[in-house]
This record gives sequence, C-alpha cells and structure tokens, in this order.
Amino acid sequence: MIKFWDYLREYNQQRDDIIGCVERVFSSGRLILGSHVEAFERNFSSFCGVSCGVGVNSGTDALFLSLRALDIEPGDEVITVPNTAVPTVAAIRAAGARPVFVDVEDGTFLMDVSAIEAALTGKTRCIVPVHLFGQAVDMDCLGEIAKTKNIRILEDCAQAAGASYKGQKVGSFGDVAAFSFYPTKILGAFGDAGMIVTDRRDLGDRARRLRFYGMEHEYYSEEEGYNSRLDEVQASILDHKLGRLGFAVSQRQTVAAFYTRELSSVGDIVTPAVGRDRDHAFYAYTIRTGYRDRLREYLAGREIETRINYPVPIHLMRGYSFLGYRCGDFPVSERLAGEILCLPLFPGITIEECTTVVEAIRSFFRDI
Ligand SMILES: *Cc1c(COP(=O)(O)O)cnc(C)c1O
Repeated sequence: MIKFWDYLREYNQQRDDIIGCVERVFSSGRLILGSHVEAFERNFSSFCGVSCGVGVNSGTDALFLSLRALDIEPGDEVITVPNTAVPTVAAIRAAGARPVFVDVEDGTFLMDVSAIEAALTGKTRCIVPVHLFGQAVDMDCLGEIAKTKNIRILEDCAQAAGASYKGQKVGSFGDVAAFSFYPTKILGAFGDAGMIVTDRRDLGDRARRLRFYGMEHEYYSEEEGYNSRLDEVQASILDHKLGRLGFAVSQRQTVAAFYTRELSSVGDIVTPAVGRDRDHAFYAYTIRTGYRDRLREYLAGREIETRINYPVPIHLMRGYSFLGYRCGDFPVSERLAGEILCLPLFPGITIEECTTVVEAIRSFFRDI
C-alpha cells in the first residue's frame, strides 16, 4: 500500500527529538504563549526574511487576522482565485469582505496576474495570491499592480513554506503573509498551527493583539479581538522541524524531479510546469491527464492512493453560490478540476515507492 500522505514515517525517524520537544514544554511550567512560541516566531520570520512573526491557531486564522489587521471590512473586495483550498475564501468571508475571483494559468495552476486589471473596482482593497502546491505566483507583476493602484497584498503561503521567487522566500513580498502548519503542509505540526509574517511593524503589532482579545496588557482590551493562540507544544516541535525544512524541501524536489523525468512522455500526461525564476517547494506533485478518473481508480486498485486538489473550483460550490458566479466563468480552473491528479508525496517517501507509482501509471497507459 502506498499512501498519499503519512506522517508516521517521519515521526518514527525523529521520535526522540519530537518527544523531547513535548517533554521540554510539559516540564517548563508554561503551556501557552511562552518562550517556545517566541523563539519559533523569531526563527520562522527570519527564515522568511522578514522581521515579525505572530503565531496563531491555524492558517485560516492567519489569513483572517491578516485581513483584520489590514482593516479589510464588509463592503471591501478581495481578489483571489477559485482554484484554491476553501479556507482562502472562508477567511475573506470571515472578515466580511467579498471575494472576487480571477482565473489561473493553464501551465502553473497559479493566479493569472494578467486577469487582475479587469477585476479591479473602486472597492478592491486587497489581493490574495495563493502559492498553490508550493510554487510562487508572479510577485513582480503583482507588486507593480499593488503599488500603482494602492492595493494591499496578503500572500497565502499555506502550501509554500520554503518556496522562493527570484531567490527571495515567499512571505516576504506582500504587506503580510499567512502560513499554515497543518500536519500535511510542508512544515507540519502535530495538530493545528499557523503564523502571520510581515515586515510591517504596525501590522505585526496589530495581529499580535487581535489574536489575544485585542489586549496589549492583561485584562484590558484595546479593540475587539479573538482567541487564536499558538500553543507551546506545537511551537516547540515546529521550531525543531524548521531546522530541517531545507532538507525536507530538497527531498520533495528530488521526488518531483524523479516523477517528472519518468512520466513526461507517458500517455497524455502533462507534468507540472515550473515558472521562470521559481524555486518550487512541491507541497503537491500534480499531473494532468484526460484519463484522470480511470487512472485514479486503476491506481487505487493497486493500493496507490492519490488525491484531487481540488475537484470543484470554489465558485461552483453550493456554499459559495451566493457570490453569483456560474459554470464557464473561470474556464481554466474548471478544466483543471477535471484533469488534475496529485501523486503520493510525503516526508520519507522512497524512490522505490515512487518507482512503483510510475510503473503502475505506465502500465495503465499501456493497457488503455
Ligand atoms: C491549508 C490551507 C489553508 C488553511 O490552513 P489551516 O491551517 O488548515 O487553517 C489556507 N490556504 C491554503 C491554500 C491551504 O492549503
């Protein structure tokens, strides 16, 4: 059986270190917002090349609190893509704003920045580029638009820890950025966790008080806030895993290079495109094929798990029908939803396992 994702292999390899992290916190006398959170905030923000990190409960909260820190409000419009995880859009709605979609590029699956101009209105306040599957959006182009139109940029980096664009780490391009450390992500916790990173001191300070009831001093709220804390145990484990993030990303890149080499001339498969100037961190390895559903079933029959990220673009989901979009509005996203397939890729997956996946795919295309 080859799983799509599995944390146990990595856990078994690093068990003593991870248990050590837990033990240090448990015996420290402080469980919430203590020195481990502070250390991880410092280390992770500096890894991203920015000055502030604010640990929060999840990637969704990191997005939501970033929008709140930017003063995004009901009536404002926020531009993003329909080809993303639901939380990108859920966070925009939680802030009360209206998500406005633009389509993605055919090759990279990423925000088509050339479509933004047409989506701008007088109410556009913010753009949320999603560095999907571990690959950065064209940030030069976005930066230009943001500057000339005075629009804020919030990077959704949930899938892209360690990815870069022109040698610069994601999370350092926008006004502010949101990371998720949900267990499956490139830097995964053993539970929920997220972080806001920014070089703008004002936004960092604002996000810091918003995550804790709007308080700067105990028992006194400066403004209406929330409870979105990162706990010490997760921070301690994440700080440990951060030390190995470069290695973890290079392992993913090795697997991706293997899949690409072995699959690029098999059947009608299109292997993932890496855009110019990108260092792709390969959160997911996503192929395209017109035989997607049959291939997926065939692989399942051989005990190889795959996933479809994502089977339905958000503008076509019942939960977001109130936005008023229709089938046909974002043709690239809609086509991709029917053709993409994510192959097994997790920390510690072996080249033998990847070879089994490749051989099964080859044999499928021989048989059809
Ligand atoms: C996972 C994810 C999120 C949300 O992160 P959580 O920690 O699960 O709340 C947001 N955006 C994208 C693109 C994601 O993949």
